[in-house]
Amino acid sequence: MIRNELTSKNGHLIIGGVDSVDLAKKYGTPLYVFDIEMIRSQIRKFKAAFEENDLNYQISYASKAFAVKAIYQVMKQENAHIDVVSGGELFTALEAGFPSDKISFHGNNKSYAELEMAVKNHIGVIILDNFHEIELLSDVLQSNNASVNVMLRLTPGISAHTHKYDQTGQTDSKFGFDVESGQASQAAKAVLNNKQMNLLGIHAHIGSQIFGTEGFIMLAKKMMEIAKQLKEEFNYWPQVINLGGGFGISYNQDDDPISASEFISKIAAELKKSDENVPEIWIEPGRSIVGASGYTLYTIGSRKDVPQHLPYVSVDGGMGDNIRPALYQAKYEAVVANKMDEKDVETAHIAGKYCESGDILIDKQALPKTKPGDILAILDTGAYGYSMAMNYNRNPRPAVVFVENGQSKLVVKRETYQDLISLDCDY
Ligand SMILES: *Cc1c(COP(=O)(O)O)cnc(C)c1O
Repeated sequence: MIRNELTSKNGHLIIGGVDSVDLAKKYGTPLYVFDIEMIRSQIRKFKAAFEENDLNYQISYASKAFAVKAIYQVMKQENAHIDVVSGGELFTALEAGFPSDKISFHGNNKSYAELEMAVKNHIGVIILDNFHEIELLSDVLQSNNASVNVMLRLTPGISAHTHKYDQTGQTDSKFGFDVESGQASQAAKAVLNNKQMNLLGIHAHIGSQIFGTEGFIMLAKKMMEIAKQLKEEFNYWPQVINLGGGFGISYNQDDDPISASEFISKIAAELKKSDENVPEIWIEPGRSIVGASGYTLYTIGSRKDVPQHLPYVSVDGGMGDNIRPALYQAKYEAVVANKMDEKDVETAHIAGKYCESGDILIDKQALPKTKPGDILAILDTGAYGYSMAMNYNRNPRPAVVFVENGQSKLVVKRETYQDLISLDCDY
């Protein structure tokens, strides 16, 4: 979302038909606000792209981007699948009433207890990551006299152009079975020999916040080659090729994301070059589904002017509700939600309230004249924002509100001081 795509009325930022300044008043700040129609529309764009290209597909929302009961319920309404990466995400999804057969379970170090929880709840597919996990799962299946669908997470040696912290597809990665060295084939053999595991297909995830299509085209090609090898070696043809997530979104004018339809049509064209049957194609978008739909509303407080330097404008949240700028220099843009009609007059650092010099939410933000009590809205905070929130300095985590059709609904309560000590024991 860039600033000039926003809607405003009477100088106030409007989100999903609702006045954001009213939201800040009603629910307090810091506040996460999600425009749910945008989320639905992102999913529908992916679906339409697959249908236009005549591919069998599945959209599996990578829920680590934002994982609360209400978002799992939206995914259920949209008939999407979901990825989870922990017992906690799995628990949340199940408690939300999300159908277990549409859940994929990821992670490079799932525990026996997590695998057993997945198996007992008849989860859709476990994405196997390493040899230790094959053994653990085999034990779980034996002691529960159960069977389960699995996929193999592969590291096909492709790294898409992106921020280095986000690269997970290259050979030197903690994730997946390496293809080059024969680990992938060894893993396939182990799984195919296990009667309690049904090998649904192969998976790879090459990175995050990816803008170019080349990485995905290379990946599609490589995965078809790997499928052919599996056919030659084991007379096995995958039912599913899972190409992971990582589709980029625009956090500012410099980011130039590619549309779902362009991504998917290029992938489809590559897959169809093969004379083999094209398996069902699954993708796992996280950021591109929820990123642009999220806003964080803050109240502006103190200000520090530094001679010959940019001023610091502080807000009532910071790294505890959005750690991405401190963690990997993520860039955001903001607007003053109650001054949408006013001209920018200065550039300032937007500082958080946490006791860390690195707690700067935005390094350089153009602002109109501001005063304490103004509402700052940081844009595109829907992905990896609330899901990474924490209680540093014993600040309670914010509330989360969904807006749709001009209505707002509280979906996560604001933490209280009492909540903060609820796990503490006296000594
Ligand atoms: C994180 C992750 C995703 C989602 O990545 P986005 O950049 O949010 O789209 C998808 N698949 C796997 C395996 C992941 O780890």
